[in-house]
Amino acid sequence: MFMEWTSIHPSDVLLHEQPATPVLDEQSFFIRFFVHKIQSCSSGSRWLAAFASLRDFLHWLCSGGGIVAYADSARAEEAPEPPPRKKKVVVLGTGWAGTSFLKNLDSSRYEVKVISPRNYFAFTPLLPSVTCGTVEARSVVEPIRRMFEKKGKDVAYYEAECFKIDPTKKAVHCRSAVGTNLDGNGDFMLDYDYLVVALGATVNTFNTPGVMEHCHFLKEVEDAQKIRKSVIDCFERASIPNISEEEKRKILHFVIIGGGPTGVEFAAELHDFLVEDLVKLYPAIAQFVKITIIQSGEHILNTFDQRIAVFAESKFQRDGIELSTGFRVIKVSDDSITVKCKSSGVETLVPYGMAIWSAGIGTRPVITDFMNQVGQVVKSESK
Ligand SMILES: Cc1cc2nc3c(=O)[nH]c(=O)nc-3n(C[C@H](O)[C@H](O)[C@H](O)COP(=O)(O)OP(=O)(O)OC[C@H]3O[C@@H](n4cnc5c(N)ncnc54)[C@H](O)[C@@H]3O)c2cc1C
Repeated sequence: MFMEWTSIHPSDVLLHEQPATPVLDEQSFFIRFFVHKIQSCSSGSRWLAAFASLRDFLHWLCSGGGIVAYADSARAEEAPEPPPRKKKVVVLGTGWAGTSFLKNLDSSRYEVKVISPRNYFAFTPLLPSVTCGTVEARSVVEPIRRMFEKKGKDVAYYEAECFKIDPTKKAVHCRSAVGTNLDGNGDFMLDYDYLVVALGATVNTFNTPGVMEHCHFLKEVEDAQKIRKSVIDCFERASIPNISEEEKRKILHFVIIGGGPTGVEFAAELHDFLVEDLVKLYPAIAQFVKITIIQSGEHILNTFDQRIAVFAESKFQRDGIELSTGFRVIKVSDDSITVKCKSSGVETLVPYGMAIWSAGIGTRPVITDFMNQVGQVVKSESK
């Protein structure tokens, strides 16, 4: 270690007294020591008295009236600056938005934590194909940890659900999504400098009675797997002996509520599955199979270019898929759907075997709560 002696005039000492760093190393200790003494002396005699030991006095004398202090300049130069604290980035969600953000984030510059109840990314456009087994579920997902590892991202992932965002304290409250074996210790809190909210949307039933209890949804991989099993179950139920024709018709009536892109894609996949596979496997009941799309608007795919809607409608008509446009579902029971004609107001019962609700998406409660906290107006999500 290189030690350097320096002769410093009292006025210099005062100048150097402002420490660049609050850490009290040897050098700044000595400087403060002398400054303290000088500041506490107003006369010559008190100058002398200010030197607590003979060694102090000799140091002062030998330096010809100046104050001798030593400085370890090499140490001062070498002393590593403590690394600045990395800003904390918390990302909620591992869907399209969350993973796109993470892929483009330089994770070496931030302390990144990701919260999502889903430890994989799901390629949603292929979910309708999973419902019919055209594509296997594992082919449409990518484990989130593998994604980070492949991209060399230094990211911590927690399989949990955020149930509250506290913008005042800059913290998110989370709950483990992994089973119930944590003895109540599954709740935790993370603070953040930057919060990325990528929670997507939830299904919206518009508070229609019976939808939650009796309908399938198609938002997650698990939903697609449940639908696949349910379709096969309908065929097996309808194959049981002593089932009336009317009952078979009901069981094999597949109803899709909502003629948007998800409903339409599912209807097309289901049609191909029934015609190309199941009808061959269950020839005795093939004649009872029916697919219906119930749509409250006048056309399916009404947010798309009209030519696309017209093309889809004529294709479905050729395939024997029934389109009930201008009808609104007002209630779902375990074996029938009550629809109301928007023009006439007449209500009709539609018997069904399996129903998919793809009529709308809504805001997640955690987001509604967050928006309220930050003073954003939550638009009502009525039909
Ligand atoms: C069947 C289907 C087909 C589709 N096809 C297309 C298509 O062809 N083209 C197209 O452009 N779009 C398509 N979409 C729409 C597209 O999937 C969505 O627009 C997109 O998923 C929205 O991305 P997101 O990241 O906002 O939300 P999502 O992808 O839904 O991701 C939300 C994430 O948040 C997580 N999360 C939820 N709640 C919490 C919580 N409380 N705490 C922490 N994490 C939480 C979820 O687990 C998920 O990881 C399709 C959708 C479906 C359902």
